[in-house]
Amino acid sequence: MTGFTQVWTPLDFEADGKQCDWLRVPHSTDLSGYGVVPIPIVCIRNGAGPTALLMAGSHGDEYEGQVALAALAREIDPADVRGRIIILPALNAPAVEAGRRVSPLDAGNLNRSFPGDPVGGPTAMIAHYVTTVLLAMADLAIDLHAGGRSCDYLPCALIRSGGTETEQRELADLAIAFGAPVTSVSDGSGGGGRTTFSAAGQGIGVAVLTAELGGRATLSREGLAIAEKGLRRVLKRFGILPGVKTDTASPTRFMRVWGREAFVYAMRKGLFEPAVELGAVVQSGQPAGVIHCIDRPWQEPEPVAFTGDGLVACRRAPMLTAPGDCLYKLLVDVEPC
Ligand SMILES: [Zn+2]
Repeated sequence: MTGFTQVWTPLDFEADGKQCDWLRVPHSTDLSGYGVVPIPIVCIRNGAGPTALLMAGSHGDEYEGQVALAALAREIDPADVRGRIIILPALNAPAVEAGRRVSPLDAGNLNRSFPGDPVGGPTAMIAHYVTTVLLAMADLAIDLHAGGRSCDYLPCALIRSGGTETEQRELADLAIAFGAPVTSVSDGSGGGGRTTFSAAGQGIGVAVLTAELGGRATLSREGLAIAEKGLRRVLKRFGILPGVKTDTASPTRFMRVWGREAFVYAMRKGLFEPAVELGAVVQSGQPAGVIHCIDRPWQEPEPVAFTGDGLVACRRAPMLTAPGDCLYKLLVDVEPC
């Protein structure tokens, strides 16, 4: 372990076998002065070998990864493992309990809180512990997301660009083994910047694959199946679960966000009526939908148009919309990185 952290666990990361326990994040409140926030963690180790760090519930209202990782943690027999698997199905547990993207304790958005702060609020403390303790032990990491309440996603994996040639090849390997239909290569300019888990991974040279598996705070069976199969293929590919039964990955289509034109934003409040479905191929200038005026329904709804060409990878879920809300995100093809 490196550096100062207030987060602790009785779990011994160097011990063989399956250990199920909590991280304990100090959180002192009126009714619990010496209280801790419990974060469930499972460590499965069997001798020497690489370490995989598998996480979900960074945003509490994204569910495919939470279900897939809990099932994986229950199923894995330590005897089948070579190395170590660390699983956190509900990383920001207070957000998960609240069914929210952000933590109700400090309004913290965990995947915008990296590399974290050891003396910040609970969310910043979790991010700091993940960066300095868990990621520091890992050879590869997978962080499973979905669109949450506000978005619906075409199931896809995400990897970050900007690393060394070796790092990019390792990330592409990871994405090919995970086998999502689409892998989006991102430089972080879509909103996460340097504050995401994958940015933290790039900062210390650990390959991080993120995935968006569905959205609308529901469970996509397609997304769940991609997570279940993809996790096992990755663990097999990296020699951590060498005997696990998996099917062959379908080829993933490498795509990217090419700039700000890939995003469509609402410019007024109202009711957003989308014009196209997820997976549609659209062109710049094509109608993206209309926004209906609530207080003057006799007025014509305001048209919204796409500002670039591409595949619709993400779409706003709630109809109720305010200026600044993202309505769509588009992807275009790239060569495998
Ligand atoms: Zn998320």
